[in-house]
Amino acid sequence: MILELDKDLTPEGRADLIRKLKAKRCDCRELPPTEVERIGILGKPGVEEDELRRMPGVAKVVRVKTPYKLVGREMHPQDTRVRVGDVVIGGENIAVVAGPCAVESLEQTLTIAREVKKAGAALFRGGAFKPRTSPYSFQGMEEQGLKILAEVREALGIRVVTEMTSPSQADLMMKYIDVVQIGARNMQNFELLKCAGRMGKPVLLKRGLAGTIEEWLMSAEYILAEGNSQVVLCERGIRTFEPYTRNTLDLSAIPVLKKLTHLPIVVDPSHATGMREKVSPMARAAVAAGADGLMIEVHHDPEHALSDGPQSLYPHQFRQLMRDIYVIAPVIGKQLDFAHLDRVQLIERKRRTGTARRRAAFVGRIGTFSHKACLQYFGDAAEAVPMPTFQSIFEAVKTGAVDNGIVPLENSLSGSIHENYDLLREYDLRIIGEIKIRILHNLLARPGTELAAVKRVLSHPQAFEQCRQFLEQHSWELVAVSDTAGAAERVSGSENIGDAAIANIAAAEAYGLTVIAEGIETNPRNYTRFVVVGREAIEPRQAAKTSLICSARNEPGALFAILRVFADNQINMIKLESRPIPGEPWKYMFYIDLETDLESPELAAVRKEITDRSEYLKILGCY
Ligand code: PEP
Ligand code: MN
Repeated sequence: MILELDKDLTPEGRADLIRKLKAKRCDCRELPPTEVERIGILGKPGVEEDELRRMPGVAKVVRVKTPYKLVGREMHPQDTRVRVGDVVIGGENIAVVAGPCAVESLEQTLTIAREVKKAGAALFRGGAFKPRTSPYSFQGMEEQGLKILAEVREALGIRVVTEMTSPSQADLMMKYIDVVQIGARNMQNFELLKCAGRMGKPVLLKRGLAGTIEEWLMSAEYILAEGNSQVVLCERGIRTFEPYTRNTLDLSAIPVLKKLTHLPIVVDPSHATGMREKVSPMARAAVAAGADGLMIEVHHDPEHALSDGPQSLYPHQFRQLMRDIYVIAPVIGKQLDFAHLDRVQLIERKRRTGTARRRAAFVGRIGTFSHKACLQYFGDAAEAVPMPTFQSIFEAVKTGAVDNGIVPLENSLSGSIHENYDLLREYDLRIIGEIKIRILHNLLARPGTELAAVKRVLSHPQAFEQCRQFLEQHSWELVAVSDTAGAAERVSGSENIGDAAIANIAAAEAYGLTVIAEGIETNPRNYTRFVVVGREAIEPRQAAKTSLICSARNEPGALFAILRVFADNQINMIKLESRPIPGEPWKYMFYIDLETDLESPELAAVRKEITDRSEYLKILGCY
C-alpha cells in the first residue's frame, strides 16, 4: 500500500502519522519522493483502508497491484544503481563481471584476474563454495578460496563476487568479499535470501533453473524486505525442452524486468549456453537488449579447469568480446569504456581526498547532449556545471573555477567543431579523456499532445537538418532556437497546444514532456565525440591515443615527411584533417589523432623527429 501525503504536511505531522501507523502494526517504509511525498506499507496493515484514508496527513491510499512491493516500479519508479566501491551497476554504464567458474589456486585466480581486469572487467568472480550436481565433483576451495579472492582483490584493486550457499558462510563472506552471489539453485532458499538481505552487502541474485519472473522478483523482495536494496538480478538461462544448449537464455526477461522493476539486470551467457562459442553472440545480444551488465566465465586453461571449462572463454576471446561491447553500447545510449572507468576512479579518489567536490563544466543547459555526455563520463564523481559558451568552459578550467570541462569535438555526420579545436590550440589545457554519445532525436510535446495536433516545431538548426526526412513529411512551422534543451524548455512553458520540440530524451524528463515520435534523425549513425579537458593529465597514465595539432613548412613533401615518421614507426593514424590558421590566409593547421601514447618515454625519439619536421606542434593530450 502507498500513502500519498498532504502537500502541506509538516515533518512533525509526518512523524506523528508514522507513529500512529506503527501503533496499528503497519510496517512503514520510506519511499523515494515523486511529485508527492509517500509512505509505503508492507504486508497486510492492521487497519482498514478506509481508516488509513481518514488519518490526518493522508491525501490518498494507493494499492500496489503486484505481489512484490519494494522491488516493483510502483513504490520505486527510478532505476536503482548498485554500487560496489567505484563500480556502478545500472544507469548508463555496462558493468562486466568476469573470472573463472571456481577458484582453483592462487596462481590460477591471479592469472585470470589480471587478464580480465586488463580487458576491462569491472568486477572479478570466482566460486569458493560450488553447488555441484554431483557430490563427487569438485566442491570448491571453501574458506581457502575466499582468502585467495581477498588476496586478488588486494593485489589488483578489483572487487570480488562469490557465491554463498549457506547462511553459515555469512561471517566469512563479510570478511573477504564484496558482492554476495545467490546461485540459481538457491533462488528460493528463503533463509539464505533473508540472511543475504541482513548482511547489507550488494547481492547478485541469479534466476532459478525453473523460476518464473514473478517468483524471481519475489525472491528479490525477500532481500529488500530486510532493508537491503542493493540487488542485481542475473538472468542465466532457464530449463526448457531444448537440450542443445545447457539452458535457454531468456533474453526477453530483460525488457520485461525493465518494466516491472527498478533493479539492474545482468546476463550470464556462460551458464545459459554452456558452450564457449555461443557465449559471445549471446553476450552481445544481451547488451543490445538493454542489460546493465554481463557475467562471463573466463579461464586461461579451460581444458584443465575444475569446473565449467567448456563454457569458459579464453582471455583473447574475452578481450574481443569487450571490444565488441564497446562498439555496441553507444548504439543503445550506454557505454563500456574501461580506460574511462579508471580515470573516473582516479577523479573520484581525488575528490574524496580533496576538500571541495569536483566540478565539470558543459555547454548549454540541463537536458542537452553535452549534459548527457558530462553525466555519462563523470557519473557522481563530479558536479555537472552548465556554462553559456565553449570559451567560458576553457576559461573556467584555466582559472580553476571548475576542475574539468567537456566539449564536443566532432560529429560523425557534420564533422569537426572547429571552435573547440581553436580553443584547444589557444589554451594551455590538456585532453584527458573522451566519450562518444549517440545523437538520438525525438519529437517532444506536452503530455496529451497528438502528432496530428502539432503545428510548430522548435529546435536547434542542426537538429532540423539532421531530421530533414521526417520533417519533410509534415508542413510544420520551424522555429530555430539556440539549443535543443532550450526548445524543450520553451515548449513546456508554451500556451500553444500545437508546439513541439526536437530534443534528446533526457530533455523530455527534465522539462516534463512526452515523446510523440522517437528516433526521427535521418541517419541513425549519428554520434558526437566529446573530449574532457583539464589543467593537467591524470596520473597514472594509461594512454591509448594521442591528439595533436601541427603545421608543416611551406616546402614540397613537408606534410609527407611528418606522416612518414608515423608509418616508419608503425603508428596508426586515425584522423587527419586540415584547417585554415585564423588570421593567416592560405596557411593550414593539421589535426592528427594517433593510436599511441606519443608522450611515453619509449617514443621520445619519434616525438623529437616529428617536432623537428614540423613548423608548429602541440600535443593536445594522450588519453
Ligand atoms: C556460477 O555462477 O558459478 C553458478 C554456479 O551459476 P548458476 O547458479 O547460475 O548455475
Ligand atoms: Mn560455473
